[in-house]
This record gives sequence, C-alpha cells and structure tokens, in this order.
Amino acid sequence: MELRRSRVIAAAILLGLVGAIVPIVSMVYVSWVIAVDKQQEVLQQIARQTIVRASKTFADARIALDSLAYPPLPPCSPQHIARMRVIDFNTTSVAEIGYFENGLLKCSSWGLEETRIMRSVPDYVTPDGLQVKIDAHPAISMGNRVMALYRGVYGMLIDPQRFVDTMMEDGVALVLANEVGDTLVTLNAPDAALLKSVAEAPQRGMNQRSLYAVARDKGLVAMAIAPRASIAGKLEEELLLLVPAGAFVAIFIVVFVAWQSKKRLSPLGELSIAVRKREFIVHYQPIVDLTSGACVGAEALVRWRRPDGSLTRPDLFIPLAEESGLIMPITDQVIEMVAAEFGPLLNADPDLHLAINLCAADVTSGRVLPVLEERLGKHGIDPRQVWLEATERGFMNIDAARETLKIARAWGHTIAIDDFGTGYSSLQYLEGLPTDALKIDKSFIDTIGRNTATSSVTPHIIEMAKTLDLRIVAEGVETQEQADYLREHGVDYGQGWLYSKALPMSGFVDFYRKAKTRQNGGASNILVVAA
Ligand code: C2E
Ligand code: CA
Ligand code: CA
Repeated sequence: MELRRSRVIAAAILLGLVGAIVPIVSMVYVSWVIAVDKQQEVLQQIARQTIVRASKTFADARIALDSLAYPPLPPCSPQHIARMRVIDFNTTSVAEIGYFENGLLKCSSWGLEETRIMRSVPDYVTPDGLQVKIDAHPAISMGNRVMALYRGVYGMLIDPQRFVDTMMEDGVALVLANEVGDTLVTLNAPDAALLKSVAEAPQRGMNQRSLYAVARDKGLVAMAIAPRASIAGKLEEELLLLVPAGAFVAIFIVVFVAWQSKKRLSPLGELSIAVRKREFIVHYQPIVDLTSGACVGAEALVRWRRPDGSLTRPDLFIPLAEESGLIMPITDQVIEMVAAEFGPLLNADPDLHLAINLCAADVTSGRVLPVLEERLGKHGIDPRQVWLEATERGFMNIDAARETLKIARAWGHTIAIDDFGTGYSSLQYLEGLPTDALKIDKSFIDTIGRNTATSSVTPHIIEMAKTLDLRIVAEGVETQEQADYLREHGVDYGQGWLYSKALPMSGFVDFYRKAKTRQNGGASNILVVAA
C-alpha cells in the first residue's frame, strides 16, 4: 500500500513540476520569439526605407545627368558650365558635375579644368545604366569619400551618406550594397561578418550578437542590424503579457494533478485501481459436516492483496465496493478465479461444494447469471456444486432478486441466505425468496453456552430453519461446546475457526485431504488430482 502511495505521490510531484514549468518556459520562449519578430519587423522597415531613398537618389542623379545634354551647348562654354552649376545646386546630394572628353575631365560645375583628371573605371553598372565608381576621391572638392556616377560624357560626385542619413532608430547599423554585395555605404559600424554576407543573407536572421533584416530592390540590398540586447524592451512587454497566462495554465495543471492524485489516493480511487489491476485473491474456509466431521465444502472469501503483499480484509472494502458499484467487477473476478482454481477439486469430488458470496446489486441486476454460466461452463463445473450466498442487505427490488435466484436455482445452484437472524434477514423476506439453505450468523453462535439475553433466540432460529426444511450452516464456530450444541440441535454444517480459518487454495487442499484421510481411515485416491 505504501509503495503505491509513494509512487502516486512521486508521479504527482513529477507531473506537477513538469506541468508548472512547461507552460511558463514555453511562454518565455514564445515571448522571446515574438520580441525578436517585432524587432526584425522594425529592421525590415528601415531596410526598405533605405532602398527607397537610395534608389530615388540614383534616379534623380540619372535624370540630372540626362538633362545636361539638352538642348546641346558648345562643350565647356560658359553657358555649358553654368548649366552644370545650376543642376549641381538643384540636385540634393550632388557635390560636383563634370564633362569628360577622351576619358579626361574637361570642365565641371566648378569651372574649366586645367589639371589632368582621369575618368575612373566604374565598379559596376546599375540596372538603369548608371556607371558607378563606389569609392572615388574628389580631386576638386576634397571632401569626404564620395561616389562617382557616370552617364555618357557626364559624371557626377555624390555623397553616399545621404542614402542613410534619415536613420532614426538608436543603435541600428545599416549596410547598403549592390546586388553582388559591394558595399556602397554603411552606418554605425555594422558587424563585419554580416557586412560580408549581405548579398546572400536571408530576409531575416540573427547571429550571436545581432538581429537583422534585409530588403532587396532595384539592384540594391539594404541590411539593418540591431544588437540582440535591443529586444529587451519588447521582450519585457511580451513577458508581462504571456507569462501570467503561462502561470495560469501552470496553476491549472498543478491543481488538476493534485486533484487527480488525491482521487487516486482516496480509498475509492485505490479500490478502482485494484479492480483494474486485478489485485484480488480468494481464500477458502472449510465447511464441515457437524456429525461426520467430513469437509463438505468451502466458502470463497475474497481478499485484496496490495502491491506490497499485504492482505486487506473484505469488510474493509466490500462496503465501499457495494456503495460504488465496484463490487460487480470484483464478483466477476472472484467467480473467474474460483472457477479456475477450485474447479478441478469440484470436478474430482462431486460431493464437495463451493459457496460464493453475492451482493445485492449482483442479485437484483441479474448480471451475475451470464458470468456464472460462462465461467462455470468453461471449467466444466456442475452448478449443483456451487452455492450462492445472498444477503438482503441493500435489496431494493425483492422481485428482481427473486427472479435471479429462481433462475440460478433452476440451473441447480443451492441458494443460501447469509447472515440469517440479523436485521438484514427476516422471515418475511425469506418467504419471498427461493431458498435452500440458511447461514446462521456468527453473533448467534457466539451466545451458545453463555447466559445472555439473545442466547434464547438461537434455538428458535434453528427451529425456524428446520420448519422451513432448509439446510443449516452455522457460521463462526469457535469452540467444541458450540459444535456439540449445534449438532445436538440438528444443525447440519459448521464453519469456523474451530475447524479452520479461511485458507489459500493449497492450504485448503491440505485441510481437505487430511479430513478425507481421517474419514476413510486411509489414503484418499481422489485428492491427488486437485493438489
Ligand atoms: P460472511 O459471508 O459472513 O463471511 C464470514 C466471515 O466470518 C469471514 O470473514 C470469515 O473469515 C469470518 N469467520 C469465519 N469463521 C470465523 C470464526 O470462527 N471466528 C471469527 N471471528 N470469524 C470467522 P471475512 O473473510 O473477513 O469476510 C467478511 C465478509 O466480507 C463476509 O462475511 C462477506 O459478507 C464479505 N465477503 C467476503 N468475500 C466476499 C465476496 O467474494 N463477495 C462479496 N460480495 N462479499 C464477500
Ligand atoms: Ca458468506
Ligand atoms: Ca455471515
């Protein structure tokens, strides 16, 4: 019993722990995933804006370069230079515009060019035909790093910082590159590894330090990168929302597990597990012929053998079993067991009988009949050797009970009324039931030889049974004096500790064999079979 309890408790603690931890941990995980997703969404937005802005700058540059040639003007004439200057002024991000001939700068928005400035070899060409030199060194304006864009005979220098200078999110780094991953400009010193992988990077991702999102359009790739720590605020928001939900689920699970375990640990819970696991065994108490001393039969008495090996007496669980309906499967198990275990002995000795206890529900419902038929039939047991003991305890429907007992009796079973003489079993009920035998309750046998108020009742009960022409079994015979008294008063059979307590099958076989040998004054040939 303790073994099972501790196992149930251990299982409950384990389940409770898992049930408490899993929902909370998964909510923390989900919060983190959501926070990462939200941060990446922000980064994606930034990357897209960067592309929009950069491609607009490229488009503006191309339009400006295209507009230089029309209407045609004499190259490097004052009007030509003035036009370049106007466009330089009017186009944001343009630092300088120049006119080339044979790969050499002839004049620019700054004026006529005397020094030999070569047109750079472009790094790549944009989809709409702008030649791009990513890292140009302005010879004239001498400013920061600039980018050179060429179209036809014209070129312009632009400041690439203009692509990325609208960034408002703190701590976010940016990379703008062309399709093949050549960096055009960066902001806030992006992670070197990510910078290198920008061309192949997936839409969203992260490494040990950073989260990032990538946008691609119009021959450009933009990657926005934020440190992982930047999700802290969002994570906190999600945790505040989801962890209480996880805790709620955890509490629910823990309460449920506790409730289930309490149910399992309750007497009824334990009993139903016992039924499911078939933890019942049967002991057999000999019934003796008071005159000859022969062992004429046995009563099957169920015991609950707990997993730790201890035996629980039936009066400790039969009432609960009756109340809950678990008695019916227990009856079935008892019938099944006795048929298999005691059947061979019954087959070997046709004079022997076995008494089985039925409860009110078994009898009134009649459901015990097919079980008996099937089980006894399976082991070839003659119903005439099987007595059915019934009490009126809990009989709600005496008519239904009578029906069942009538059928059983017709099959050959002996019907015995158990606990006769107690409040349960009155003469009035007796008349309504098909009856073959009475079992006089132990409380009456106890009074024999004692001078108590009830002792005068015992002979009356015996007389009554005799008048009804029923066989009589005295229960709880403990002394020789009681046995003698009962025999003298014409009681047929006795059952009690004077002869034997209820025994396991092997013990009963020993008892039976000894009794038989004593009777025959020698060896018994029947008994070899049953042992
Ligand atoms: P019961 O049918 O009246 O069974 C007789 C009880 O008296 C048994 O107790 C038996 O061990 C005990 N007994 C027999 N001789 C003596 C004696 O000389 N002195 C004393 N002090 N006791 C004696 P047990 O086995 O504990 O069974 C108790 C009750 O449990 C039974 O009373 C019966 O009502 C019920 N029961 C037992 N087995 C089954 C079963 O398979 N099905 C059902 N429905 N009830 C059962
Ligand atoms: Ca009984
Ligand atoms: Ca009894």
